[in-house]
Amino acid sequence: MRTAFVAGNWKMNGNTDSINELMDGLVNSINSSSVEVLVCPPSVYISQVKSLTESSKISVGAQNVSENANGAFTGEVSLSMLNDLGCEYVILGHSERRSLYAETDQLVAAKFIAAVESGVKPILCVGETLDERENGETLKVVSRQLNAVIDAAGIEKFADAVVAYEPVWAIGTGKTATPEQAQEVHAAIRAEIAKSDAATAEKTRILYGGSVNAANAAELFANADVDGGLVGGASLKVNDFIAICQAAD
Ligand code: PEP
Repeated sequence: MRTAFVAGNWKMNGNTDSINELMDGLVNSINSSSVEVLVCPPSVYISQVKSLTESSKISVGAQNVSENANGAFTGEVSLSMLNDLGCEYVILGHSERRSLYAETDQLVAAKFIAAVESGVKPILCVGETLDERENGETLKVVSRQLNAVIDAAGIEKFADAVVAYEPVWAIGTGKTATPEQAQEVHAAIRAEIAKSDAATAEKTRILYGGSVNAANAAELFANADVDGGLVGGASLKVNDFIAICQAAD
């Protein structure tokens, strides 16, 4: 059985006060042991959030990381730094990283390998643009993004990995994939992983991301291959994020 998983991607939002307020609401309400809950603040606030989650069930992750170990990479954050701060997960290949920062499948794969080797669990994001969906290329694109990592890393590196299906046209737009659209792609992702190893496919959590909110979470999470959500905008609102976590329970 796969434990349900809900991850909040705060993107580049928040400040010391707003984070104290948000975390105060979350740590007091999120205590179910049947859903794994993760928050991914901007890296400069990871320490703050980590100290606020100490006596809670909420884990802390990062939104990105360098593929390099250390050295002259101005502005970058390394995996040893994430480990040092107690980060358990790192989001990789988010569509904003792919489109705004030109991250290629190969770079995402290099980051994935570095993360696994350092003991930080990757949340690998894949997803098609609206043009790609309208051209009937959804499964081709998602398979390409996934297989670039499987081929480079080897399926054994997926043991603790999480995959997030995030259609680009649904991210931050208020347009959500229908439960049928989500299930179709999630099942295809699981089948693609199964081509390398059936047991890994069965145990890999596949999250849906793209305008998940308190009203649509339950019907998305009810699908057989949807194991939870990667939540952007709604993860900044205490009551909405709590409701989404409850919908995964
Ligand atoms: C995201 O950034 O990963 C995301 C899914 O954003 P939103 O929920 O705001 O669409």
